[in-house]
Amino acid sequence: MYNKKESSKKYYLKNRRRLIEKCKLWQEKNREKANGYVRKYYFKHRNLCLFKDKIAREKLRKEILLHYGGKCACCGFSDLDFKIYNHSFLSIDHINGGGTKHMKKIKRGTLYKWIKRNKYPSGFRVLCMGCNVSMIPGENKCVLHKGEVI
Ligand SMILES: [Zn+2]
Ligand SMILES: [Zn+2]
Repeated sequence: MYNKKESSKKYYLKNRRRLIEKCKLWQEKNREKANGYVRKYYFKHRNLCLFKDKIAREKLRKEILLHYGGKCACCGFSDLDFKIYNHSFLSIDHINGGGTKHMKKIKRGTLYKWIKRNKYPSGFRVLCMGCNVSMIPGENKCVLHKGEVI
């Protein structure tokens, strides 16, 4: 009875050297390809896509922030481009912290898209990072600026 597995094994053993050589050649050829044009094109294209994406995201973020006043609702900080540890200092906050549940549903990165899609609903404000972390839920002034007249 013809045994395919057996015969291919025999074939392999018989032609092992030649097959390995062929395989190596093929790999080398493809590695060259992968290192060359295709790879370059891929990375260039990928970076370009990421860059375009970043610009679009930034534009949207500024659009939303400006709509909600363009400055921290507590301390008045208004530099939309200011970043700290690669995070923008100003961001959208859900007033009264009622957004925790809601925010969990919407990922941080998609909040701006969500706001625009829902035609800028009320209940949001702009806060800077400092005031954001110091805000007592339900208050309009953070612990740092409480009692200050701004
Ligand atoms: Zn602030
Ligand atoms: Zn504050």
